[in-house]
Amino acid sequence: MSRASASPAALANWASDPQRTRGRRHAEPPAPTRNDFQRDRDRIVHSTAFRRLVYKTQVFLNHEGDLFRTRLTHSIEVAQLARSIARTMRLNEDLCEAISLAHDLGHTPFGHAGQDALDERLRQADPDSPGFEHNFQSLRVVDVLEQRYPLFDGLNLSFETREGILKHCSRRRALALEADEPGGVGRRFLERSAPSLEAQICNLADEIAYNAHDIDDGVRSGLLVYERLTELPLFMRFHMLALQGAPALSGRRLLYETLRRMLSALVYDVIDASTALIDAQRPATADAARAGPPLITFSAAMGGELRQVNAFLRRELYRHAQVVRTTEGAKRVVRDLFDAYLAQPGQLPAEHARRLPLQQTVVDYIAGMTDRFALKEHLRLTGVAIDLTDVHGAPDRS
Ligand code: MG
Repeated sequence: MSRASASPAALANWASDPQRTRGRRHAEPPAPTRNDFQRDRDRIVHSTAFRRLVYKTQVFLNHEGDLFRTRLTHSIEVAQLARSIARTMRLNEDLCEAISLAHDLGHTPFGHAGQDALDERLRQADPDSPGFEHNFQSLRVVDVLEQRYPLFDGLNLSFETREGILKHCSRRRALALEADEPGGVGRRFLERSAPSLEAQICNLADEIAYNAHDIDDGVRSGLLVYERLTELPLFMRFHMLALQGAPALSGRRLLYETLRRMLSALVYDVIDASTALIDAQRPATADAARAGPPLITFSAAMGGELRQVNAFLRRELYRHAQVVRTTEGAKRVVRDLFDAYLAQPGQLPAEHARRLPLQQTVVDYIAGMTDRFALKEHLRLTGVAIDLTDVHGAPDRS
């Protein structure tokens, strides 16, 4: 049976409906040509945090090669996958697009290395600090840090988009959010309920995207060896199918064809497994779908195989000696920046220096930086140039 539909089908009863949004924190008149989720997406695309994603590391540093994923292209790939799944399942494509494009806005420069360094410094400075967490920072970006509109801070997005952006949250932070906004985006972490089905789709689309594109970037960098990938049953299956379809295929085209088939299969698997679960429960509304355990899922078999891919990438790529070496340099940059601004708040731009508390201001400022701006600031403040280039030998730049 074909899963494709030529014209947009009516939304399912359990889909998020912009007509029934729980609304924005600051009331605004409706937009004449766009629904609320489309408007959220547009506000995200026009934000400064979104533009900075192009110079933020996904796995490989931005300046290591023009063809590696950045946070921006990663976010666009997540949006593409999430929209495909949502459209086929008659869920809300616009909401998926908005959540996907915003899901990584809170990432620090240098990916997880930057996050770990900030978290460590915050906890050292104040043992009572909840630390740094990129999901919470993404929400801070859209709720507080973007300053574009006359009447409110942040982008004033709909509840459903903010709910999807806050993928994880500690109980402590959830309590603080709940105190500030009763019944808002912190509530589900206290009640342990699920987010909208669209938010659940974005979580899995994120997983599909990074596992697939990190294989591609890993091979391109020369750090992953193609032959080792065939140890993975999931990869091997589509490698064989690619060769069955075109026996002469080799090199980069074989890798692309294998990944293309793998991506499609993962998307179809989510659609089929989730549709079966939803058909069994048939929630009456989008809220009813939030009440139980998540309904968007991989099949058990595919989920297991994807976890193998992730464990492999962790071992062979994310903890590769050369990646770790870059990571250590990147952590030093972020730690030094944190120390320098705390010691000399006058080094912050004037509009930041006025904001309190200082520690939070410093964290927000550093978290917002692109990789290259962080390196430039590090040189300006410490006089030390940290060289994070050329750690990967001679990558394949084709
Ligand atoms: Mg992501």
